[in-house]
Amino acid sequence: MTVTPLRKQYLRVKQKYPEAIVFFRLGDFYETFDEDAKVASRELDVVLTSREMGKGQRVPMAGIPHHALDNYLAKLINRGYKVAICEQLTPPGKGLVERDVIRVVTPGTVVEPNLLKSKSNNYLASLVTEDKEAGIAYVDITTSEFATTQLSTEKVMPELERLQPSELLIPEDAQDYAQLPFTTTRLDDYWFDLEIAQEALLEHFSVATLEGYGCARLPLAIRAAGALIHYVKETQKETLPQLNKLSTYSTDSFMTLDGQTIRNLELFQGGRWGETGSSLLSIIDLTKTPMGGRLLKKWLGHPLLDLDELSRRQEAVAWLYQNGLARQKVISLLSDIADLERLVNRVMSGRVMPRELLTLRTSLEKVPDLKVAMSEGEAPIASGLSAEPRPCPEIVDLIARAIADEPGDLEQGGVIREGFSPELDEIRRNSRQAKQYLAGLEQRERQRTGIKSLKVGYNRVFGYYIEVSRANLSLVPSDYIRKQTLAEAERFFTPELKEYESLILNAQEKIADLESAIFQQLCHQISASGEQILATARAIAQIDALSSLAEVAVRYSYVKPTLTNDDVIDIKGGRHPIVEQSIGRDNFVPNDAYLSNRDNQFIILTGPNMSGKSTYLRQVALIILLAQIGSFVPADSANIGIVDRIFTRIGAQEDLAAGQSTFMVEMTEAANILNNATPRSFIILDEIGRGTSTYDGLSIAWAVAEFIHNHPKLGAKTLFATHYHELVDLADILPRVKNFNVAVAEKGDKVIFLHKIVPGGTDKSYGIHVAQLAGLPKSVIIRAQEVLAELESRAPKKGKVPRHKVALQIPLFSKGSQLAEEIAQLDIDSLSPLEAITKLYELKRMAQENKDSPP
Ligand code: ADP
Ligand code: MG
Repeated sequence: MTVTPLRKQYLRVKQKYPEAIVFFRLGDFYETFDEDAKVASRELDVVLTSREMGKGQRVPMAGIPHHALDNYLAKLINRGYKVAICEQLTPPGKGLVERDVIRVVTPGTVVEPNLLKSKSNNYLASLVTEDKEAGIAYVDITTSEFATTQLSTEKVMPELERLQPSELLIPEDAQDYAQLPFTTTRLDDYWFDLEIAQEALLEHFSVATLEGYGCARLPLAIRAAGALIHYVKETQKETLPQLNKLSTYSTDSFMTLDGQTIRNLELFQGGRWGETGSSLLSIIDLTKTPMGGRLLKKWLGHPLLDLDELSRRQEAVAWLYQNGLARQKVISLLSDIADLERLVNRVMSGRVMPRELLTLRTSLEKVPDLKVAMSEGEAPIASGLSAEPRPCPEIVDLIARAIADEPGDLEQGGVIREGFSPELDEIRRNSRQAKQYLAGLEQRERQRTGIKSLKVGYNRVFGYYIEVSRANLSLVPSDYIRKQTLAEAERFFTPELKEYESLILNAQEKIADLESAIFQQLCHQISASGEQILATARAIAQIDALSSLAEVAVRYSYVKPTLTNDDVIDIKGGRHPIVEQSIGRDNFVPNDAYLSNRDNQFIILTGPNMSGKSTYLRQVALIILLAQIGSFVPADSANIGIVDRIFTRIGAQEDLAAGQSTFMVEMTEAANILNNATPRSFIILDEIGRGTSTYDGLSIAWAVAEFIHNHPKLGAKTLFATHYHELVDLADILPRVKNFNVAVAEKGDKVIFLHKIVPGGTDKSYGIHVAQLAGLPKSVIIRAQEVLAELESRAPKKGKVPRHKVALQIPLFSKGSQLAEEIAQLDIDSLSPLEAITKLYELKRMAQENKDSPP
């Protein structure tokens, strides 16, 4: 079978990238063929055609215009496809144009600015495990961050949840990873081999040992990082010179936050509890630059454990907090600084646009003022920064001299400023003169020939011409040579015109080539200072994140917490940073919290539905978290003994819907806490045991409480909100368990929620009051109160037999009381709002039926 050379070329390329969709450049289009074409046409909604590529061979084909590449790429990448971009490497001419893949785009290796979120990192990560140990490496090729760690396998999920990689590399033969909630790419095990991986790293960094990177004795960290660098090279083609650092980190220096806790506390994503769409990040992120935003996000995912490091951050925030003028100045300067980190990376990888160099320049120009602003007042904040920002005056100057004020694309020319390159200026001068000659030509030829309507024009196909209308043809001089005939006119050229024409066209080509060459040279020069600019970008990111925290503290009245290595948490007048904003600061009731491993280790919080239990639990966790990223906190004062891990378990409703047994879910979660908590951990348990029958739930809750309290190695500080009033009896038995409840004021038969946490247990559920608030008819409420009184008088001493049991023993009332019985049996605490409404309708219907029928 004969196929065209083009087809052969395509098949050769495709063979190397069987897993990717190959975008094959053909002139102004990227074409896809065969199966790829079917996928592309389906996913991108483009027409599926076919092309003859050999005798009697029609091949399915679908193409997209080259200028729309980004949009189409975005669609495919977001749907988990990989795309190999195959470009034309030689200009079209005789014979077959050379083509090869210059880049494979995968979710983790995207560099197109409009495919990236500016305030999030785009991580490509790799994972390898052996026995109980694992290695995780990650890279953001748009910011040059490259890091690796070795950790125990239990910490793998929390670490991945924190990184949220957009693509995760795992060994081909790896088992157990089928369920990972990330886009995974399997790499041949070979690349994860210790020797091969080490070799890849040594070669990439051109070094003889990995000692300098801190991972020489961490084989799994090396294996993960080596495989990663191999993959980056494979997909990026151009080597990545900017990826010249590898940092080894330890997850032991951060607070561990599992995915559930991140979600429950709404750190990055709001709306989980239906109050507001705000996440904690959205409240504290007042950063002005994308790199500052990314850093703050990272800080929030990595609360620190080290007091020294924390106090450095705190000091810097405090300085910016106190020096209001300096802070305002810093913030306004930051507003004019672009994403230097990604910009420099684009310069270094040769993807930068001329216009972006201007942005680089104007951003760097802000640095000197930034430094001045930060050293005003006493004690500058430099101590809180990993590096000082450097203004890089030589780069600013270079760009100022080289790039025109309004540079267009390289193809159009006009990128390089006049006076920068004598050679370029010379060609431009000649071209200008030639153009001037042509501009004057029309006038001159009109005079010479006496043809008033004579025109000099230009078109793409025929180039420059002199046009004479039919009526005047007799006046045409003898040196005019005919070029083109139109209906109403003839077009001519002269040898002289031809000469100038080629001068201009040649000059244009030369100018474009020269401008490109100068531009590339420029990028090289800037790249030589790339490290320095990157360090500056990182310093600016820190200043930005710190100023954001300071500005938040001022705006929302946060205070500087005192951090200690003690085992006490003592918060006065604490507030929930998200809720206080949604209901208004004045409406929010502040609350204290005192926890200590010695006496107040385990707090049982009781209170009616909607009184503020969950809010209180989360607010304590959020205050601890903010304190441990170096932020001020929403409170009157706070003393925080460093916490190594926050666990949150919230009696789940959604797992029920997912068909999983809640009992199982809660037991697994409880087991996870019990296995991983330490005396320095902080646990919040919100209504655990809720989604199951009363007895099961109560027993789980009771057993978990006892375990956390009694376990010699555990002793973690715990806040436990529950509607099982029976649990208040635990305080009589276990010395470090304390009861608190949410205060409720009763005015007549009305109930007011004070949202105030006070010592002591409660044994009232106020369920009926809640029903009243919900608008149940008065007669129903009154009858319900009677029934409740009746039940309470029959119930044995509280705590011995759960009251719920009594509720099930009510003898059948007459038909008229069926309604009351219904109400008595309602376990209001366990109803969802929707169920409550449905129930209300049902009760109302019953009440109406009662009215209509004789008693
Ligand atoms: P619970 O968990 O006891 O059912 P929530 O914590 O969900 O109650 O709070 C219910 C509502 O009460 C919240 O949506 C909030 O609007 C309000 N609330 C909670 N705590 C406070 C507080 N300290 N001050 C003012 N309003 C509060
Ligand atoms: Mg609640």
